[in-house]
Amino acid sequence: MRLPLEPANGDDIYMFFSQIIGQESAKDFLKGVISRKRIPHGYLFTGIPGIGKTSTARALTVALNCHDPLELDGCGRCPVCHQISGGNFPDFLSVRPDGQNIRIEQVRELNRKLSFPPVSGRYRVTVIHQAATMTGEAANAFLKTLEEPPPQNILILTTTEPYDLLPTIVSRCQRVAFRPLAVEQMADWLVTERDQERRMANILARASEGSLGVALKMLESDYLKKRGEWLSTLTDLFTCSKADALDMAVTATEGKNRWGLRSSETNETGLMDMLDTWETWFRDLLLIRVGGSQRLIINRDSVDQLKSLAAGFETDNLIKALFALDRALKDLRRMRSPALVMENAVLNLKRFAAAGSIPMGEQ
Ligand SMILES: [Zn+2]
Repeated sequence: MRLPLEPANGDDIYMFFSQIIGQESAKDFLKGVISRKRIPHGYLFTGIPGIGKTSTARALTVALNCHDPLELDGCGRCPVCHQISGGNFPDFLSVRPDGQNIRIEQVRELNRKLSFPPVSGRYRVTVIHQAATMTGEAANAFLKTLEEPPPQNILILTTTEPYDLLPTIVSRCQRVAFRPLAVEQMADWLVTERDQERRMANILARASEGSLGVALKMLESDYLKKRGEWLSTLTDLFTCSKADALDMAVTATEGKNRWGLRSSETNETGLMDMLDTWETWFRDLLLIRVGGSQRLIINRDSVDQLKSLAAGFETDNLIKALFALDRALKDLRRMRSPALVMENAVLNLKRFAAAGSIPMGEQ
C-alpha cells in the first residue's frame, strides 16, 4: 500500500479520454454513461495513486462541457477546453486533504459553492481527492450532499481502497475501478513519450508497480541513480558490523526529505523510497530462490548479483525480511520515530541474512 501521492506533472496535463493510458473499462463505462445521457451524480474512482483517476475526471468534465466534442473527446479549441487545459475552468472543483484530513469546514465551503448553479451553464464536476481522509463530521456533512446534490453537479470521490470509506458513502456512488497499468504498456509509453532506454523503462514500469504517476516522479527525482546507491547500501548491510549497520540506519534518517516520492510533501527521494526499493530487491531474491519466472524480476539489470545473493538466503528468511520491510514502511507512515524504525529494520535484515550463508562481518 502506498502513501497518498499527488499526480506527477506529466499526469496532470491530460484532459481527453484518448490521452489516458489504459483504463479501458473505466473509460468505456463513462463514455457509455455520457452517450446514454443518463448521468449518475456520484462516482467512486478506486485504485492506486498515479493511474489516471484525476485525468479521467478531467476528461469527463471536458466531455460534458465542451462546445463541440468529437467522439466524447473535447475539441481543444472552445473556451471550455481552453479553460480546462489552463486549469481555470470554474466548474471543475477539487477538494484535497488539508494536512491529514478533509475537514468539515471544507465540506461546508463546498456545499456553499454547489448551491449556486454551474457558471458554464452545463455540468459542474467536483473531485474529492483521497475521500477516505474525511473526518467523521466531514463525511456526515458530505453524505447529505452526495445523496441529493443540487442539479447539474457531479461528485467524484477518489480512494485507493473503497473499504476505507463509510459504507453509506460507497453505496451512494457508482464504482469505477482503475487498474495498475501493464508493465509493457507503461514501458512502451516511457520509451516513446519520455525517451527512456527500453531496459530502464522496464525497471521503472516494474518498480512503480503499475503507477505512471510514481514512474514519472521516479524519473524526475533521478530514481535510477539513487536506486543504485540504495542497493549498494543494502549489500553493505549484509557484510558490515552491527555498529556500522546502526550507524547507517541513523544516517539514512537525517535530512528533511526522508518521506520521498511516495509522499505528497516533496518530489525528493527518501527513506521510504529506499525501503520500497529494498523490498523490490527482496522480492526478486525470493522469486529467484523459489524458481519463479525471471520475466517477473524487477531489478533485471542486476540478475547476476541477485542470483549469487539468493543462494545465501533461506526462503523463510526472505519472507521474514519482506515482512520486516513492510512493517518498517507502515511504522514510518504512522509517523513513528524514523531512527528507531530504521534501526529495527536493519538489525532484522542483518539477522535474516545471517541465518543463511551470506558471508557476514562481526556479529
Ligand atoms: Zn471544446
